[in-house]
Amino acid sequence: MNRTAIRCRCGQRIGEREVMHTGYYPRMFGPSLVAVRYRCPRCKKVDEQYVRQEEWDSGILRDDAIEASDNEMHDFIKMGPIEMDELVEFHKQLEKLDDLNEINNEFSDWVPTDDEE
Ligand SMILES: [Zn+2]
Repeated sequence: MNRTAIRCRCGQRIGEREVMHTGYYPRMFGPSLVAVRYRCPRCKKVDEQYVRQEEWDSGILRDDAIEASDNEMHDFIKMGPIEMDELVEFHKQLEKLDDLNEINNEFSDWVPTDDEE
């Protein structure tokens, strides 16, 4: 899966959150364009790029949100929506933990990214 993405000149990939404005440019010949104005989360520059409308419609910015592999996605879909009893079970498991440090340690390597404000 290697779809086109919008990238800033600095190489940063642009996601949905960074988009400030879009404009639709229908053309008589050739594919219609969508102008995407964005603010880069890395270099903080505001810039504009054109993508073909079909690319835009295919959710060009949404790729980033899907970090799971195809196999994982397949498994997730098979699991179906989260049921209430699963939530209850999860809650019970949390209550059983007497030391939250155990969990915190798992996230100690986690560093917020630039676009996390
Ligand atoms: Zn940039």
